[in-house]
Amino acid sequence: MATLIVDEMLCGKSGECVAICPTVFEFGPAGYARIRAGADTTDPEVETAISNCSYGAIYWE
Ligand code: SF4
Repeated sequence: MATLIVDEMLCGKSGECVAICPTVFEFGPAGYARIRAGADTTDPEVETAISNCSYGAIYWE
């Protein structure tokens, strides 16, 4: 099964992912987005968040 990644090296802290899918994405202490612990990454809004991250920082690995 693929793992959902937020790459801090790419994240521009723009917040679209958190706005679109707050059950899966949150801001970490340094302001970069991260995956919430225990988040249900099968939420279809994850794909919307991936599409809307203009930094390309969210992907499956
Ligand atoms: S949408 Fe992309 S750049 Fe913006 S906070 Fe989320 S991961 Fe970071």
